[in-house]
Amino acid sequence: MQLLQNVSLKPYNTFGIDIPAAHFIEVSSVDMLPAVTDATAGMHRRVLGGGSNVLLTQPVTGAVIYNNIKGIHKDKEDDNHVWLTVNAGEVWHSFVMYAIANGWAGVENLALIPGTVGAAPIQNIGAYGIEAKETIESVTAWHWEDKRFYTYSNFECTFGYRDSIFKHQLKDKVFITSVTFKLNKKPSFNTTYGAIEQELHKMGITELSIQAIADAVIAIRTSKLPDPKQIGNAGSFFKNPTIPIAQFNNLKQQHPNIPSYPVDAQTIKVPAGWLIEQCGWKGYRRGDTGVHEKQALVLVNYGHAIGSEVWQLSGDILQSVEDKFGIVLEREVQVW
Ligand SMILES: Cc1cc2nc3c(=O)[nH]c(=O)nc-3n(C[C@H](O)[C@H](O)[C@H](O)COP(=O)(O)OP(=O)(O)OC[C@H]3O[C@@H](n4cnc5c(N)ncnc54)[C@H](O)[C@@H]3O)c2cc1C
Repeated sequence: MQLLQNVSLKPYNTFGIDIPAAHFIEVSSVDMLPAVTDATAGMHRRVLGGGSNVLLTQPVTGAVIYNNIKGIHKDKEDDNHVWLTVNAGEVWHSFVMYAIANGWAGVENLALIPGTVGAAPIQNIGAYGIEAKETIESVTAWHWEDKRFYTYSNFECTFGYRDSIFKHQLKDKVFITSVTFKLNKKPSFNTTYGAIEQELHKMGITELSIQAIADAVIAIRTSKLPDPKQIGNAGSFFKNPTIPIAQFNNLKQQHPNIPSYPVDAQTIKVPAGWLIEQCGWKGYRRGDTGVHEKQALVLVNYGHAIGSEVWQLSGDILQSVEDKFGIVLEREVQVW
């Protein structure tokens, strides 16, 4: 175990922000955790996975615990399901591909989401009509203060839209070490969301399969989202806001084209990207930061942006959306 000092986090975040961490330690096995806990006693500990959902705005004074715990274990199976425990450092997309290769369904719509398996429960990652919570059976985590492992059931994780207990009561209190998934041996396909059906048609797919769905999702995502290897970004910077139906009806009178997705009898979801675009931000550039030209929900680093510039731009966007629509956007990205 090596506790490093003053390590640049540039290679460890997809925004490509160059900020140092005062202390940095890589964890490759759960057995290391008691010693890591002692070595970082008194420090603010933050776990880092793929760094694809963080914005680094200032030097990290505490310890960054870099999660590199690998391994996938099949716990049990019956005629319909298989239960897999996946260690937190596995790359999410590799896990999706592994599941597909074995014919296990449930995560194919979540193909190509960057990051690690351990971070998936934190914001209950979602895409193309599916959320991680639908397949997560339980989450196991090391509690820094109690110095022991806990297993949280799906119910105890209190999953919501891009939300869970790990963003609230357990924020920076635990290191998620593994996630147990329940996958289906007999898939029910979900192709209704977004452009999946169109893409399948374009690809000439006549027989639906989980591989075909993943291929369609990968093709759509590749055409729509900037690759962090080319332009620094953290995917959607803001959450899609949920607003009362009465407020939506008022807005619809002024903006007849406003898109929406039903949530429940009282509320409705509005795409944040549309709101931002209406405020004129799409393709906007300020120095080395800006709003992506194809996707207004994605803030980018063209090269040498610093975190505080991205933060400032996100604040200006937030303000303009509030001024124009009376809707307060919430940042999806974790700000350090
Ligand atoms: C191009 C692009 C597209 C994206 N598309 C989507 C999408 O479609 N849907 C979606 O939901 N998200 C999307 N994201 C966001 C991101 O991929 C997910 O949030 C992902 O789960 C983050 O994983 P990570 O390992 O990179 O987490 P990190 O960025 O390393 O960490 C995120 C937060 O989780 C905490 N954390 C990470 N791992 C652990 C752990 N093991 N234990 C405790 N805390 C931990 C960190 O402290 C931090 O606060 C996208 C990002 C990019 C760059």
